[in-house]
Amino acid sequence: MSFDNILGQDRPKQTLDKALRRGRIPNAYLFYGQESVGKKFTAIEVSKALNCKTLAPVDSCDRCTSCLKIEKRIHPDLFILEPKKSSPTSREAILKIDEIRELQKKLLYLPYEGNIKVAIINNAECMNPQAANSFLKTLEEPPTKTLIILIASNPYQLLPTVVSRCQGIRFYPLPSEAIKTIISHHLKNEAGESQPEEIELRSRRSMGQVAYALEEDLLEASEEREELIRLLSIISFKRMDQVFLWTKAKAKKTERILLILDELTRILRDVVLIKVAPETSVVTNKDLIKPLRALALQKSTPALLTMFETVQNTKAVIKLNANTQLALENMLINFCEVA
Ligand SMILES: [Zn+2]
Repeated sequence: MSFDNILGQDRPKQTLDKALRRGRIPNAYLFYGQESVGKKFTAIEVSKALNCKTLAPVDSCDRCTSCLKIEKRIHPDLFILEPKKSSPTSREAILKIDEIRELQKKLLYLPYEGNIKVAIINNAECMNPQAANSFLKTLEEPPTKTLIILIASNPYQLLPTVVSRCQGIRFYPLPSEAIKTIISHHLKNEAGESQPEEIELRSRRSMGQVAYALEEDLLEASEEREELIRLLSIISFKRMDQVFLWTKAKAKKTERILLILDELTRILRDVVLIKVAPETSVVTNKDLIKPLRALALQKSTPALLTMFETVQNTKAVIKLNANTQLALENMLINFCEVA
């Protein structure tokens, strides 16, 4: 059963399974939850189940021509929209009205060879206002034999009128067992054997997100973590030279800066955990427990919590295209004030 391919999302799976079995599929779903936890994967599995030549509409066989075409994304009744960057240097990808209009045209026709057309809009919050308003019309007057699946990591950025016309299904961070199964499957494929230590480390650092668990450069991450811990231990108004050196170097790494800030978040979280429960086993950076304990002795809990919040705010303004170097400097000056 192909729904079995969906790992670690038992609640969404149950809801969808029930809807398929009762034949009560709404016109539109909104799959929401943090990035890389299986939302798009699940949307594809739903498309297969609805169109499978042997098991539709309750499940899919993963072997018929329909399932295979959907798997390869070449089924004529499957439409997937992904936001694109308007230029190589722009930080945010968007979904433009032209693409939405083109999709709307395609949805006017009956299914070409399947039972139902499925339109998957990934990162739907990237629709610009014109695109979202135009798309609202499709949700208000849904085309026949069509299921729309909106996928969003930040659903609060969608128009409330769009959200209210979809049945929401929340996805959760993946449990570590599911992450481990996925990682070991992929690592095995590449290296021919599994490496338990690497799987453990990747799973612990993944925060329940598959892409992170699979793609992270562990060596680079290890150097970055040590550098961040050092920065936190020396930060003060007396060492502003270090602050400016660090921000200048990191501001150039535009591709990685949000990951570096995530790293900083995990370190601060670890230090707080060590402070409140010194014997804790839930620390992410277990291999760096010694320098983390030293930081825990040095910083107060309120200071750490303020830093934590400052990092979240910094991430938000960088995502909104603020000047990265200035944003990082502001963050560290704030750190100096509470350090
Ligand atoms: Zn099939």
